[in-house]
Amino acid sequence: MNKRNCPVCETNKAEVIMTFTPELLCAVNPTYKVEELRKAIIGKDDLVTYSECDVCGMVYCETLWDNDTLRIVYDKTIDHEKSLEKVLLLNKRIAITRTWNNLLRLFTLLGKKKLNDIKLLDYGCGWGDFLDVANGYGVNVYGYDEDKRKIDFAKKRGHKIVDSIEELKSLSPVDVFVMNSVLEHVQDVDYILKLVKTLLKPNGLLIFSVNDYRSKYIKKNVKKVSSNFPALSKNFNPLEHVNIYDYKSVMTTLEKYNFEFISTRLSLDFTNIPGIRNSIFFLKCTNKLEKAFSNILTGKEIGITVYAKNNATN
Ligand SMILES: [Zn+2]
Repeated sequence: MNKRNCPVCETNKAEVIMTFTPELLCAVNPTYKVEELRKAIIGKDDLVTYSECDVCGMVYCETLWDNDTLRIVYDKTIDHEKSLEKVLLLNKRIAITRTWNNLLRLFTLLGKKKLNDIKLLDYGCGWGDFLDVANGYGVNVYGYDEDKRKIDFAKKRGHKIVDSIEELKSLSPVDVFVMNSVLEHVQDVDYILKLVKTLLKPNGLLIFSVNDYRSKYIKKNVKKVSSNFPALSKNFNPLEHVNIYDYKSVMTTLEKYNFEFISTRLSLDFTNIPGIRNSIFFLKCTNKLEKAFSNILTGKEIGITVYAKNNATN
């Protein structure tokens, strides 16, 4: 089994901090089937671990899983009907709509007056629920996903889904690159972010969401798991979520690939007050506030949605 380097600083000095058993994983993840999971990782259970990078503190899964194991995990252990049902959840729809709404507001903050042929790509579009919300006159939406079941579903509902990376490259350049709940799953983060740089226009917008586990929350989980209790969240799952981002590692990653951080969804929500909602200055202040709090806020994991601009020069 090969190991990978830290997805943030690329060094290989990391130490195992959490080891999971199939039972510990399934106890907090009801969409997992324990028997199938055990079969998938048989003989490799001691590799279901998270490590912490000695250099930058990033928590990630060092093991590079082979495609066969991953296919079994994604195809057989996950209950796909439950996954599709989640698309119907009102809270999920509200979150997606809010991301779209914030993107529109961001356009206005950046001086745009109307939607003129925006080309938007949703990488990891899943069942197509974000495409549903963003599609419309003046906005051309495209999706990409690796799950055939989801692609077929989105295509049947009329969405333009790109089938290969080659076809994806022919779409270039795009104005907006959306990547919701993708980066935590990706073994080769460098490949994906370089792909984003290739496809996105200079000054184009990158919007992505990941789970944000602020450092003290990670420590709480380490304590739980090392005493053989299930983690506090089903999202601590080294088979699916191979990268455990927090606010700091997200910001470092943006900098590394030369994206200009604009805001998080949380800060954008704060500016949604009549009178000040169109002020980029106020947005910057709330960003600073959030950064300060990111070192203190520890209660639970937070979904962080990041809005960033593709800097033109490398
Ligand atoms: Zn590192």
